Amino acid sequence: MALKLFNTLARSVQEFTPMDSAGKKVGMYCCGPTVYDFAHIGNWRTFVFADLVRRYLEFKNFQVTHVMNITDIEDKIIKRVCENKTSLREFTGKFEAAFFEDLKTLNCLSPHQTPRATEHIPEIISLIEKLIARGIAYKAGDGSVYFSIEKYRGCGCNYGQLLKLNFDEMRTGERVKSDEYAKESVADFALWKARTPDDGDIFWPSPFGEGRPGWHIECSAMSMKILGPSFDLHLGGEDLIFPHHEDEIAQSEGATQKPFVKYWLHGAHLLVEGRKMSKSLGNYFTLRDLQAKGFSGREVRYLLLTAHYRETFNFTLDGLAGAGTALARIDECIGKLRERAAEMLSLEKNPGQNSVVSLLPSFTAALEEDLNISGAWGAVFEWIREINRRLAEHSMSPTAAETALLEWNKVDSVLGIGAKSETEVPAEILALAEARIAAKKAKDFKRSDQIRAELKAKGWVVEDSPKGFKLKKL
Ligand SMILES: [Zn+2]
Repeated sequence: MALKLFNTLARSVQEFTPMDSAGKKVGMYCCGPTVYDFAHIGNWRTFVFADLVRRYLEFKNFQVTHVMNITDIEDKIIKRVCENKTSLREFTGKFEAAFFEDLKTLNCLSPHQTPRATEHIPEIISLIEKLIARGIAYKAGDGSVYFSIEKYRGCGCNYGQLLKLNFDEMRTGERVKSDEYAKESVADFALWKARTPDDGDIFWPSPFGEGRPGWHIECSAMSMKILGPSFDLHLGGEDLIFPHHEDEIAQSEGATQKPFVKYWLHGAHLLVEGRKMSKSLGNYFTLRDLQAKGFSGREVRYLLLTAHYRETFNFTLDGLAGAGTALARIDECIGKLRERAAEMLSLEKNPGQNSVVSLLPSFTAALEEDLNISGAWGAVFEWIREINRRLAEHSMSPTAAETALLEWNKVDSVLGIGAKSETEVPAEILALAEARIAAKKAKDFKRSDQIRAELKAKGWVVEDSPKGFKLKKL
């Protein structure tokens, strides 16, 4: 089977084949957070989507390098640093730490590299210099450096690869901001913003004068530094398609004259309680707001993962409550499977059929089709129904239960929702419990009582059951 993904660049679903000639390595970049506040649930939809893509590629044995930038220099950040009379690093550090904490709460795998914009100023400057040398960027009267879309198009390059653009409308339709009067054309965008009094002491020296980088250029500079001039996957929310991603392509291809990214994946918007999220409507939630309402990261992750990434999703508190119910069904089934599999350890006879209740083929078939997550969940719940039926009929052997658990672990390496794990029993304790059963069978009750006391001393209680024994931690 081959993975197919909707590539915004091609505006169609395409088979995914990495650029690596061995077909193994995959470079993946996802635009990261701007650390001036806590990320909201709409942001989290994109990061959980990126996590799903990464986990599924790894499940398919690709060697993924997952890069996510930290935007720690930007207009809103500067404004808040000046308002709060703090230092840039202190201010952004607090929200960056919160972001990584939330990422963990949602059980997202940590990206392999999380470069900060402020630590890549030399790379950003050198990329701008290349664009100036190629005649595509220019320094304007206000001291800022802009990217010229006209010159870029004049070189035979295509601006508007992700989105069809009407250039006449771009010129007349967009209002000229007072601080950007110096641009040659309204559509041009800033690569380097000249220092202004409002910036306080937040600026860097450069060959173009003191200032700071624009937002778009940081993603081009950092992604290409780590993943090379051309890489496989670039992800983000659909609101970033224009201008951010379009500008990333223009800057990168303008400088390297090589195709920048092979597959562009965009996650759709999130509505909350049926409306666009806004603080004034009271439907604006950070992950922390939802935790304060008693919901877990696991429930939020589950709900965010129920909709296909290209569908607008309506996130509701009722939906979150439903997520808890769905997860409880999974937990109950996995718990019963664990119990049944553990009976293999007892010396009792193990009746039941060894025939396998398969999940992986249907789960994988769904995800191969542009990450059809609804189909994948359908496969999971169908599997749970069948497992529950067989367990209720006592027709599943401990071996079949263990095979089912191994399949579940693989499926969960993609979903990342886990199942409440029972306490892991150390091998030494298990061996003692088994020795106790053997002693009982040999009618050596003195020995079996000794072992029970020994287990208790080690913090474990053993209970007999018709099928063997159960161990509980004291
Ligand atoms: Zn970006």
